[in-house]
Amino acid sequence: MAEPDDEKREPAEPKPCMPCSGSGKVTSNAGGDPHEVDCPWCEGGGLTIPDHDAQAARRD
Ligand SMILES: [Zn+2]
Repeated sequence: MAEPDDEKREPAEPKPCMPCSGSGKVTSNAGGDPHEVDCPWCEGGGLTIPDHDAQAARRD
């Protein structure tokens, strides 16, 4: 039987992603034409991903 109290070691709950306001989409002006793209911070999920490096996706 799982004791709920034993699962309290991870207090980190998913928080709504700030840059996209939890929508999972951000407006990019890349190319001079505003368009919606998947948020690089939450990868389109709308929730903050702990320790996620948004810059990594842009790296070639
Ligand atoms: Zn986001």
